[in-house]
Amino acid sequence: MSEIHGFAVHAAGAHLLAYKYDPGELQANEVEIKISHCGVCHSDVHLIDNDWGISKYPFIPGHEVVGIVVALGSAVKDRTMGERVGVGWQADSCGICEWCRQGQEHLCAKSQPTCVGRNGGFADKIRVNSKFAIPLPEALESENAAPLLCGGITVYSPLRNHGVRPASRVGVIGIGGLGHLGVQFAKAFGAEVTAFSTSKDKEAEALALGAHHFVNTRDTGALKKVAGSFDFLLSTVSADQDWQAYVSALRPKGMFCVVGAAPSPIQVAAFSLISGQKAISGSPTGSPYDLSEMLDVAARHGVKATTERFAMAKANDAVAKVKKNQVRYRAVLTN
Ligand code: NAP
Ligand code: ZN
Repeated sequence: MSEIHGFAVHAAGAHLLAYKYDPGELQANEVEIKISHCGVCHSDVHLIDNDWGISKYPFIPGHEVVGIVVALGSAVKDRTMGERVGVGWQADSCGICEWCRQGQEHLCAKSQPTCVGRNGGFADKIRVNSKFAIPLPEALESENAAPLLCGGITVYSPLRNHGVRPASRVGVIGIGGLGHLGVQFAKAFGAEVTAFSTSKDKEAEALALGAHHFVNTRDTGALKKVAGSFDFLLSTVSADQDWQAYVSALRPKGMFCVVGAAPSPIQVAAFSLISGQKAISGSPTGSPYDLSEMLDVAARHGVKATTERFAMAKANDAVAKVKKNQVRYRAVLTN
């Protein structure tokens, strides 16, 4: 019998406790990965607290995993022993639906999230379908690369899919784990980048990460001042906001894209979308192909997470700090 050791949550909002499970026999299409690093995404916090009503307890959180392949299922042809790989939000998909066949596995209706109904990366090992174990470019350090596996792809995909280019004026709202990577990727796409933040003390760092402008959203009237300014706004905030003010901040044909999981419905006046031919959209993570592309872009353009390191056994401290919005900018657990 093999055993995997990690830290699991047993009830909504509870602390993580040491936990072990028997992963059973290695499936033909699976790899086993010895984990070196795992980022702490705010989605882990939502899952721990069951904010989305989909958590299945007990479970080990963690879906920004980096490690080394230590076992190969009998049918695995795409990975090798000893290879350094990363795993993000998705651990498996059906493989046969139209979306899987198009290489857009993240849209598969049977997609299996890495730590919903499965155990994730706050552990010593993990097993996933080998397709979802993505090789990491050598230039990327494991600690700075782990947060790219969910945070990075979630901000990279919408910039790419909505055609952000050098002429684009882009705003990234919320400079946390996702947002600080969003600023860097938007810069890499050549855009003029504005960071929107409730934390005035992030201004210098946001500019150092590549933002051209900084808007303190706690300043009264700050959003009014930038009305009609942006082609693309990316919201990474997990709280409700002044949606109407952001739609007003778009230029004609602009798009407001949400990746942050705000709790209440988004309400904006229909006419504010109609008149400027504006759009609101959402975006999930990305496919294995998108992940490889994003990692390659990160390696070439020097996009990397600014991290705060915690020992795996200190996962509770990391989660508490994420909840208080005190991490600059991604907590990473290490074994
Ligand atoms: P994070 O590191 O906690 O960063 C979120 C940032 O939002 C904070 O740093 C803060 O930035 C801002 N913020 C927090 N509370 C706020 C409030 N009450 N009002 C306004 N701004 C606030 O979280 P994350 O890991 O980047 O994740 C952000 C969200 O994206 C979460 O909801 C997460 O579940 C979601 N997510 C979605 C996907 C997807 O597939 N779409 C993937 C990953 C994560 P400032 O200090 O700059 O204001
Ligand atoms: Zn995530």
